[in-house]
Amino acid sequence: EVRVRFAPSPTGPLHIGGVRTALYNYLFAKKMGGKMLLRIEDTDQNRFVPGAEDYIFQSLEWCGIKLDESPVHGGPHAPYRQSERKPMYMDYALKLVNDGHAYYAFDTAEELDAMRERLKAAKVATPQYNAITRNTMRNSLTLPEDEVKELLESGTPYVIRLKVPRKEEIRLKDLIRGWVLVHSSSIDDKVLMKSDGMPTYHLANIVDDHLMDITHVIRGEEWLPSAPLHVLLYRYLGWESTMPEFAHLPLLLKPDGNGKLSKRDGDKLGFPVFPLEWHDPFTGEKSSGYRESGYLPEAFVNFLAFLGWNPGTHQEIFSMDELAEAFSIERIGKSGTRFDINKARWYNEQYLRAKPDAELAQYLLAALAEHNIACSEEKAVKIASVMKERVTFPQDFWREAAYFFVAPETYNEKVAEKKWNNAAVAVFEDFKNQLPNIQEYTADNIKALLLQILEQHNMKIGQVMQALRLALTGLEAGPDLMAIIEIIGPDETAKRIETATE
Ligand code: GLU
Repeated sequence: EVRVRFAPSPTGPLHIGGVRTALYNYLFAKKMGGKMLLRIEDTDQNRFVPGAEDYIFQSLEWCGIKLDESPVHGGPHAPYRQSERKPMYMDYALKLVNDGHAYYAFDTAEELDAMRERLKAAKVATPQYNAITRNTMRNSLTLPEDEVKELLESGTPYVIRLKVPRKEEIRLKDLIRGWVLVHSSSIDDKVLMKSDGMPTYHLANIVDDHLMDITHVIRGEEWLPSAPLHVLLYRYLGWESTMPEFAHLPLLLKPDGNGKLSKRDGDKLGFPVFPLEWHDPFTGEKSSGYRESGYLPEAFVNFLAFLGWNPGTHQEIFSMDELAEAFSIERIGKSGTRFDINKARWYNEQYLRAKPDAELAQYLLAALAEHNIACSEEKAVKIASVMKERVTFPQDFWREAAYFFVAPETYNEKVAEKKWNNAAVAVFEDFKNQLPNIQEYTADNIKALLLQILEQHNMKIGQVMQALRLALTGLEAGPDLMAIIEIIGPDETAKRIETATE
């Protein structure tokens, strides 16, 4: 059975890259008839941010990503919060020490700093604690056995480090990038257990993926450099035969392609990078979210799925079920994906348009209620129907259609001057006077009347349309003007023409 996990650290709001990782895990599990679990990786207590875990759950729920196991849903491998699993990790670290794959290190922060300074002075590009430097440091590989024993017994703070082999090629097969080769000399002797008795990400991640029977690790490309280290851990813990398969997702790039899209890009680039609005508990700062901006979750998910994956066909609109059906890891691209907010907007427009008018009318009615404006359901449905091709967000039904309820107060003067010439005004005069005579007050009949009047004045429709639109809506563009005139009615139309041309 396929088992995947989403393993965020609660260090802040989940950003769009994180949600994409969760989505791909979910789609893959769904496609394979497997299970998805969520594990909270909170072993770094210094980076803990209150509210972040809750935010993760709310974001996934909004997207429609359903979890089979989690700290909230429970499951056969509970607990799913690493801080609550703390007692489990030491045994594995000690096993590694006993088998000669890990060791105690007693170096103080000052000693480590001094080491880095020394290496920098010697022009070593990336100063590391590794097969070479460990010989000059204080650890259980270099100190006499009885001294190590004494240090441990006297309660001297220590960490446990992985003993990375000195000369070895580590190979790993990634489902997206193929074979990845890394030489062990470029790998740090990573800390596995910290001096506070907490495991580091690396140890906890591998132990938990193993204990939780994870079959596929699907995560962001920023974790690829850690993967060889993880392979070593699986090997040394004796779990290589059941090691999960890896798929590292391509980076999300800034819109201009220059570098990775970061959490800080959000409001700076003029679009949200968070699924939901986020209030920073420390600074009080507020960052905008897709939900609050008016994106529909289905549109957001559809957009997200295409940020790095494609179905290999021309189909662009996919429900969650259809995405799962079509999804495959092979069709995830290798190179970074540029972020394009226009595509997100396009998706939102498509999903809005696909909704029945009666449902769209509710968005308008809600906004009208807020502004204390009365409106019949029937009128709201008509407005929704003429506006739906022009809106991107639900709030646009009010924002861009307020003129159905509120007469324009200002007009673009330059445009008005040019358009409201005497000939046009004469046409409007007749038009407004004859409007009440229309038997059946429909857009078609209104248009017939206008054409008839224009003919009497020897004018063409193109000579008055823009002026009329400006008079009635205050705007230079919008939906079919005859439909607008039908909806606002003959009296209001007449009134607006008078105000505009007086
Ligand atoms: N806790 C890591 C993160 O925050 C998980 C990385 C992984 O999936 O292995 O992204």
